[in-house]
Amino acid sequence: MPENAKTGWLRVVGLGPGDAAMLTPEASQALETASDVLGYTTYLDRVPHRPGQVRFATDNREELDRARHALTLAAQGCQVALVSGGDPGVFAMASAVFEAMEHGLPAWRALDVAVIPGISAMFAAAARLGAPLGHDFCAISLSDNLKPWALIERRLRLAAQAGFVMALYNPRSKARPDQLAQGFAILRAELPPDVPVAFARAVGSAQERIHLTTLEAADPALVCMRTLVLIGTAGTRLVPRPQGGAFVYTSRSASA
Ligand code: SAH
Repeated sequence: MPENAKTGWLRVVGLGPGDAAMLTPEASQALETASDVLGYTTYLDRVPHRPGQVRFATDNREELDRARHALTLAAQGCQVALVSGGDPGVFAMASAVFEAMEHGLPAWRALDVAVIPGISAMFAAAARLGAPLGHDFCAISLSDNLKPWALIERRLRLAAQAGFVMALYNPRSKARPDQLAQGFAILRAELPPDVPVAFARAVGSAQERIHLTTLEAADPALVCMRTLVLIGTAGTRLVPRPQGGAFVYTSRSASA
């Protein structure tokens, strides 16, 4: 190898929820030094263009292909940033990279691969509301593209019974318009009607909208794919403010 030849690497980079102020310095550095940037078009659009940097935009459904492409480029000596919104380990690209590595070329396991964390939608949304994730919580993707809907229903029911606050990702799409309503029906059978529910839409962007309601009144029609749905527990409290609105928190000593 020539002395000045660069060694390939792969960084699986979390871009945070959308606001540049919520991008970590470590993620910025990986984006600045990469020779190649790969990702779903929506996320790639958030990465500033740099002269000489090669960009590969892909469809959202081709995760494993994209992961193999990223590993192949790194094995060829490229410095590759594979980008995800939020955190790359939360319903995103990092798992696909390790799955591709497990079933791929043996040489891929020796590559310089690292995951750069990002602020996941649940943390950005929770921070806007107060501290709804202050006690035990779980994150569930409502998408049944990769798992059966019956399993999602079971997890919702058991999480409610176990008293977890829930962060629901991928809550509703054009292809899946009715499942959130079905999910709410399951939760209403398990939880008190006044449990706080929040819809946090496009947090960190100009379209951000936070809607606070109750499980009883929660209207799935207000939810789109850019929304994170938070379901409280009987221990999730509201602190109303004199100017309107309220902080939401879950007490660390909550028992329900
Ligand atoms: N890796 C991402 C999640 C990808 S799954 C993360 O850690 O945030 C995509 C889902 O994440 C969306 O359907 C939505 O439920 C949620 N999401 C992503 N960005 C969001 C944002 N800015 N505001 C609210 N929800 C968001």
